[in-house]
Amino acid sequence: MPMIHPKANWVTTGGWEKIDVLFKIKSRTEKEYALGQSEEEVVTPLVMRYINNYKDLPKAVYQINWKFRDELRSKSGLMRGVEFLMKDMYSFHETQEDFERFYAEMKKAYLKIYARLGLTAKVTEGSGGAFSEKISYEFMVLTDAGEDDILYCGACDFCVNLEIAKEKEGERCTRCNKGTIAKARASEVGNVFDLGQKFTKAFDLTFNDKDGKKQYATMGCFGLGISRVMGVIVEKYHDERGIIWPESVAPFAVHLLALSGADGEKAYETLQNAGIQVLYDDREMSAGEKFAEADLIGIPWRIVVSPKLGNGRVEIKKRTEKEPRIVDLKEVLNLIKR
Ligand SMILES: [Zn+2]
Repeated sequence: MPMIHPKANWVTTGGWEKIDVLFKIKSRTEKEYALGQSEEEVVTPLVMRYINNYKDLPKAVYQINWKFRDELRSKSGLMRGVEFLMKDMYSFHETQEDFERFYAEMKKAYLKIYARLGLTAKVTEGSGGAFSEKISYEFMVLTDAGEDDILYCGACDFCVNLEIAKEKEGERCTRCNKGTIAKARASEVGNVFDLGQKFTKAFDLTFNDKDGKKQYATMGCFGLGISRVMGVIVEKYHDERGIIWPESVAPFAVHLLALSGADGEKAYETLQNAGIQVLYDDREMSAGEKFAEADLIGIPWRIVVSPKLGNGRVEIKKRTEKEPRIVDLKEVLNLIKR
């Protein structure tokens, strides 16, 4: 989907005036555009061309793309930028019930994704904000670096933003009557907006139902903040020397360092041929500098080749371990694959 949107689409929905974080730009010929901060204004007219009757529903489309938000509280780094990477999906349904069914499925998928990233996520209910008059669901990850306070139950899935909570910390959870309400700092890493028919009415997206009657489709928006999730992972997985990427999201499995003129080619090829992704550092720098950079970057395994180690021998260490081991290159593959 495009990142630069025609002004007319945003005027149609009222977002041009109402959304204060919307970036507005003007061309040399005085034409006005918005930078995408969410894509309902683009995706609704697009999907409309593929929906005629109820058989075309439900339909969901998604993309992974950059978004822009003229954020007053923007910070450096990945947590809250004016530019961020997001997975955004838009779903179209015959009825509100079908949206609810789809949301329940997506919620499970999202929680599975966060778990695989090494994060504990909770779902809170919030107000829909500028997107919707209806409710929104926020996926929150527990982290001291977060900017929200949430109350949650340790025994069931009750979770609410402190701002709108009626419950208090330490109380017994009224939903399950088992757990106790706890308070935590959290960071939003995803959201779901129940958009109802707001956008389908604005763009006149209708379909013929089973009785041949025209109906407006019901719509949902499902966002997952990719660059933000990276920030949250770094907040959770680091030490005083740098990042410790969980293996599920590490950009490489191995950081290979060739020291004092050693030839790392053989180790590099052996690993590559075994299907292991390697970041290979053969620069002429001191061992100390290379070790410090490897810790900072935080690739799960560090492998060192050096003339001191002897033929076919390498030094191997996990980012989480203190002391390296010296092993045969052949053994390395077993260690990593295990
Ligand atoms: Zn509970």
